[in-house]
Amino acid sequence: METSGSDGRQPLAHPLLKGQKALVTGANSGIGKATAIGLGRAGADVVVNYVAGRDAAEDVVREIESFGVRAYAHEADVSQEKQVSDMVDRMVQKFGTIDVMVANAGLQRDAPLTDMTMAQWQKVLDVNLTGQFLCAREAAKEFMRRGVVPEVSRSVGKIICMSSVHQIIPWAGHVNYASSKGGVQMLMATLAQELAPHRIRVNAVAPGAIRTPINRSAWDTPEAEADLLRLVPYDRVGDPDDIANVVAALASDLFDYVVGTTLYVDGGMTLFPGFATGG
Ligand code: NAD
Repeated sequence: METSGSDGRQPLAHPLLKGQKALVTGANSGIGKATAIGLGRAGADVVVNYVAGRDAAEDVVREIESFGVRAYAHEADVSQEKQVSDMVDRMVQKFGTIDVMVANAGLQRDAPLTDMTMAQWQKVLDVNLTGQFLCAREAAKEFMRRGVVPEVSRSVGKIICMSSVHQIIPWAGHVNYASSKGGVQMLMATLAQELAPHRIRVNAVAPGAIRTPINRSAWDTPEAEADLLRLVPYDRVGDPDDIANVVAALASDLFDYVVGTTLYVDGGMTLFPGFATGG
């Protein structure tokens, strides 16, 4: 590939994902945005899903196109069955198929248990868990229809679930979110077991504390950031690119034998840092 991105970074000498078609949900903000751009930089054509904020999605499309690959924005709510199947159908019409599904879209609706409404509980489960089920199902149907294309990838397709350290770390005041991510862990593992015989690889990425709009209050003052860093042995808040780089590698054939795994990308947050000096 000859082009470099608008951020001035050099293109990869051998694009990891050349010829692959990727869809990233929730791709006009934060981790999804960085991931969509990262997959484009790695040589993939990319569908930029968003639910609100068309201008931001179109900005991501333009940045991806600057790498010399194709991209377009698609509005869809991942918790709505018909909208997800229409989104994948349109991708197959426009790009011919799908090789990589990154089920990234997610949100929080925080409250202590006794204040949490049914609507808060249901919204988080609908988007964070049901949304990933729908995206995985629609991608898997197309993977199975198409079969392996050896010059594109050794596997038939890749599904990458965006989980969280809260798939294993309990989180008071966020029972809906932690339950949804615990669900994502078992969704991922069960789908990995079910789909591996079809040469479909299902894995998850579990970010720790990444600087995005979802958790702004946790890092946007020096005091909040210092408090947060007590939980991060590596002593820095993560950037969306930390996740994007791992997703690109995981989607590539470098990781062809990695099936049913969660990659924690968390600066050591899951290492029980409180025990470094206590216990
Ligand atoms: P973000 O708020 O910047 O991005 C979330 C994206 O999901 C947005 O584009 C939003 O519009 C989209 N979205 C929300 N509901 C949707 C729906 N119904 N349909 C389609 N898209 C929808 O937050 P982020 O930090 O980039 O979060 C991305 C993912 O990473 C989430 O699944 C989140 O749980 C996970 N995560 C983030 C962190 C972190 O520290 N930022 C840590 C662990 C896990």
